[in-house]
Amino acid sequence: MAAKLRVGIVGAGMAGLTVAKSLAKVADVTIFEKSKGVGGRMATRRIGDVAFDHGAQYFTVRDEEFGNLVNEACSIGLVKPWMGDVVSLAEGNPVRRVFPSSTRYVAVPSMTALPKWISAGLDIRLGLRVDEIIGEPARWHIRAGDVLEGPFDWIIVTAPAAQTAALLPSMFAHHQIINNVRMHACFTLMITRDANTIVPFSGAHVSDPIIGWIAFNQTKPGRTGPASVVVNANSAWADSNIDLPVDIVHAEMMIGLQRFMRIELAEAKTTVLHKWRYADVETPAREPFLWDKQTQLAACGDWCIAGRVEAAYMSGLSLAKALKGVSAVGN
Ligand SMILES: Cc1cc2nc3c(=O)[nH]c(=O)nc-3n(C[C@H](O)[C@H](O)[C@H](O)COP(=O)(O)OP(=O)(O)OC[C@H]3O[C@@H](n4cnc5c(N)ncnc54)[C@H](O)[C@@H]3O)c2cc1C
Repeated sequence: MAAKLRVGIVGAGMAGLTVAKSLAKVADVTIFEKSKGVGGRMATRRIGDVAFDHGAQYFTVRDEEFGNLVNEACSIGLVKPWMGDVVSLAEGNPVRRVFPSSTRYVAVPSMTALPKWISAGLDIRLGLRVDEIIGEPARWHIRAGDVLEGPFDWIIVTAPAAQTAALLPSMFAHHQIINNVRMHACFTLMITRDANTIVPFSGAHVSDPIIGWIAFNQTKPGRTGPASVVVNANSAWADSNIDLPVDIVHAEMMIGLQRFMRIELAEAKTTVLHKWRYADVETPAREPFLWDKQTQLAACGDWCIAGRVEAAYMSGLSLAKALKGVSAVGN
């Protein structure tokens, strides 16, 4: 019997977990994740009594295969439709309701619940930031500080594009494609308020030089605790200001927010700012995944297709299918 393919994966976001889960029966898979938990940009931040979704706000379904996953998660109550009013806001213009072309879903009780569920049973080394991939095809090693892990037949990197390019050895055939990918930054402001705050809408796409999105986190199913607001910066503004000191960004966003909601700093019980250097995808790779059979290195992630949870899932799934073909012929 041919030995199982040994696969090392960098990143436990939606793409990395999907490829790992899909390969688990046919390969020995190890995931390395620099954070303390799984989920990547499907992120939850607990502040006091509130679990904020400070990364992905919701997801939609276009592809049948992602739909199957979402249906299964819905059947056990792990994912639910978010039926709240989502509106469009621009200063001085009337508020318009935005009707989605497909249902908006969220994981329950917070966004990380979905990646946590997918991660069950997988071999994941948390808190290990991969610094380097060294070795040669079929004998790759991962170095994370003083830790050396391997050998692996294949290594898959699922970090945002620029970080993936920095990790993959120069012999990887598709560096040029990754270098053409462009991602937007984002700042996310998380605010808790009194429980009796009036909620004018559930979510709002905002047309403004500084603010891009506002959501009342507690309007999503299964969320508890006091009123909580998530505010995302306008992408272009975040790109231009990504290296500004956090307190200046925080102040600018609070001023910008006043154009759409009256939240005095004194009225907000807590405000916390999170900086995403890579959040959304501006120019994708336009390939579902990248792999190089000569070097046995591969990459996947939302940036291959689009800045959406579903795209990360589909990228991981497509790469796993391709690698199953390799493992079926015994490499
Ligand atoms: C503010 C914000 C709002 C969003 N809103 C939406 C939305 O409403 N709807 C939607 O569909 N999508 C949304 N998205 C996008 C969505 O979150 C992403 O498309 C998706 O989660 C990307 O998954 P991924 O696995 O490709 O990448 P990631 O989730 O980024 O996973 C990559 C993982 O690699 C890890 N990693 C990186 N470098 C290393 C290293 N050297 N060593 C070890 N680990 C490493 C990271 O810690 C991370 O866990 C939003 C994103 C953000 C940031």
